[in-house]
Amino acid sequence: MFSKFGPYISSIFVLFLLFALGNIFFFYYNLRSINNNENWVQHTLIVKSALANTLQAVTDAETGERGYLISGDKNFLVPYNQALPQIKQDIESVQSLTIDNPVQQKRIPLLKKLANTRIVYLKKAITLQDQKDLTASQAFTFVNQGRKIMNQLRDVIVIMQSEEDTLLQQRETSTERNYSIVYITSLIIGFLNIIFIILAFYLLRQELDKRNEIKMALEAREKRFRALIENGYEGFALIKVSGEITYVSPSVKKILGFTSNEYIKFDRFDRLRPEDAEKMKNIYATLKPNKIITTTLQFKHKSNKWIWIENISSNKINDPNIKAIVVNFRDVTERREEEKRKDEFISMASHELKTPITVMKMFLDILQNQISIYKDKKAEKYLSTLKGQTNKLRELTADLLDISRIQTGKLTFHQENFLVEKIVKEALEELRPTMERHMLVYKKGPDMKVYIDRFRIFQVLTNLITNAAKYSPNARRIIVTVEKANNQAIVSVKDYGIGINKSQQEKIFEKLYQVTDTKEKTFPGLGMGLFISQEIIQRHGGRIWVESKKEKGSTFYFSLPIVVQKL
Ligand code: ADP
Repeated sequence: MFSKFGPYISSIFVLFLLFALGNIFFFYYNLRSINNNENWVQHTLIVKSALANTLQAVTDAETGERGYLISGDKNFLVPYNQALPQIKQDIESVQSLTIDNPVQQKRIPLLKKLANTRIVYLKKAITLQDQKDLTASQAFTFVNQGRKIMNQLRDVIVIMQSEEDTLLQQRETSTERNYSIVYITSLIIGFLNIIFIILAFYLLRQELDKRNEIKMALEAREKRFRALIENGYEGFALIKVSGEITYVSPSVKKILGFTSNEYIKFDRFDRLRPEDAEKMKNIYATLKPNKIITTTLQFKHKSNKWIWIENISSNKINDPNIKAIVVNFRDVTERREEEKRKDEFISMASHELKTPITVMKMFLDILQNQISIYKDKKAEKYLSTLKGQTNKLRELTADLLDISRIQTGKLTFHQENFLVEKIVKEALEELRPTMERHMLVYKKGPDMKVYIDRFRIFQVLTNLITNAAKYSPNARRIIVTVEKANNQAIVSVKDYGIGINKSQQEKIFEKLYQVTDTKEKTFPGLGMGLFISQEIIQRHGGRIWVESKKEKGSTFYFSLPIVVQKL
């Protein structure tokens, strides 16, 4: 439930830190003001004692003077003489101590005045006594006036002291208040800190639990993947471009017979047929990053038996987590053998079919001649349908035979020098009558001699043109062009039909490949024509390719090397 706080953990800790800083500042501020208050309390006490000292000094002077007046003994003037500077000093100290208090400052001149007046009277009495002129009535007057002034002075000092007492009271109350604030807030802060710590612990615990859970889930997934890789019938290997194996899954034992520890010591090209090893080296050296290539090669099993292995190699050199070519490999020997059996069957079946079809065709020709005598239109129509279907059967069997010849390397050619022009023209002439809905347009090129098997090139042209007609049911024109480029004769067949997706343009030249989307399903065929055409053209030293856009038509090209005339 707390995991939803996960993303805010940093913010919560920043908040906590700010709170702690706030605490420090708060305590510092309060303790400082307590300290200040205490200093002020001290100060007030000093002021009070200075005021008391002042009064004391005046009283001392008065007592000394009185002793002298009564006894005439000069010894009584010692405290008097000591008190005079003391009075001045004490008043000055009161003045400087209360400099911050304007109310007290206002009272200082009165205090000074009263003290001075008192001293003047004292001095007058002492002078008269010195001259022995002091009468009893004068002494009485001085004492009387002195008492009055002394009373006034005392009143001022009492007022000033009570002012200081009030201040003292205020400062003590403020200190007390500050103390209780500090107490209460330290309790609250302490309590909040405990809540924060509990919360932080809880959040951390939650986060740790969550991480633990994720870690365990990851580990479980890793184990599952590892088990899949290690126990499957498919091998995985990581290899360097040089062929050095850096990892191979234990399933290699089921495939090649070696344990992964044994196999890792090999090179990926070891245990291949030498020509295949060369081929693979080239493939890996030129395999671009993130490209995938599938190869099916023979490997020598630990038992020294040759087995067929299909490798899907994907270049992940640029992936920082892999930095290798990833190879998935599996034993396809059984599949290959089954394919071989199928190929052999097709080869045998097409051979077996060839003779009866030829015989059928021969007898159909004879029958056609016979029937023409009876002028039976219906019978002639049936017969011509029968001949047409027999022809299709013958073409199919011929294609099947060609495929098995290609596979067994038995497709042979009888080559001669021919003008491209001538072959193309002948093909067009032969095909035109069979085109019911299409118009064949011919764009002639320069005279070019090529060294070819005439019938085979004818076969290629027929295949391309009949395809163009078959896959453009809603268009009329098919354009056949002959051109010259780079010492090659280029023949192209253009239609305005259904077109081919980019992703399928290379695949259509593979054996038995047909584009399978719902639309194409309606076109009959077996996917043999382009495979055979490619073999024928490549064996003539040429190239076959297509340029096409879905729904916009296709142009098939093939090139043939021009024969250079010797002078
Ligand atoms: P088939 O035509 O008998 O199926 P091909 O080998 O001649 O076999 O052609 C292979 C596939 O290529 C066809 O099934 C078709 O999908 C595609 N194809 C060939 N020619 C054309 C074309 N002119 N326009 C569109 N698709 C074509």
